[in-house]
Amino acid sequence: MVNIDELFNSGVLTGEREGAVLPDREFWNSKKNGLVIIECPQRIPCNPCHTSCPTGAIRPFADINDTPVVDPTLCTGCTLCVASCPGLACFVIDMTFSEDRALFKLPYELLPLPEKGSKVQCLNRTGEFIAFGTVENVTQPKKDRTFVVHVSAPKEIAGEFRTFRVVE
Ligand code: SF4
Ligand code: SF4
Repeated sequence: MVNIDELFNSGVLTGEREGAVLPDREFWNSKKNGLVIIECPQRIPCNPCHTSCPTGAIRPFADINDTPVVDPTLCTGCTLCVASCPGLACFVIDMTFSEDRALFKLPYELLPLPEKGSKVQCLNRTGEFIAFGTVENVTQPKKDRTFVVHVSAPKEIAGEFRTFRVVE
């Protein structure tokens, strides 16, 4: 369970994977195109993640304040929810990218957008550097919505990597 008091005090989700809705690791490791991870612990009136998902992988909300629940077996890694979430709380991790690297599909709202091939510093939830990554693609899955940047980086940082800084 997420410690909401601690979250409000620090602004950061603390602890390994706290607040994330995680798939079974073995299934996740073999799922081509990746699976969505959602870190949305707070009950707020919001559901674009659900309404944008074309496969029903994000379950219908009984109450608009519910936090999202994922059926990973239905997720195709399409990133439509990543582009639609106003809280930048959804991302996709494809563990099949290579032997030692995963592909992280992250929401990104800063300009200029990074270019394909750019080197980036992968940052954890508190903004600390944890590894170098490479931009593999930049997409806009939904018109006028958040861009999604695909970054390859070491698999070991999957539990910590949440955003990045472009290396000048
Ligand atoms: S990545 Fe695509 S299929 Fe998976 S939950 Fe998001 S919108 Fe649905
Ligand atoms: S759209 Fe984003 S912020 Fe809104 S409920 Fe879904 S995951 Fe949470």
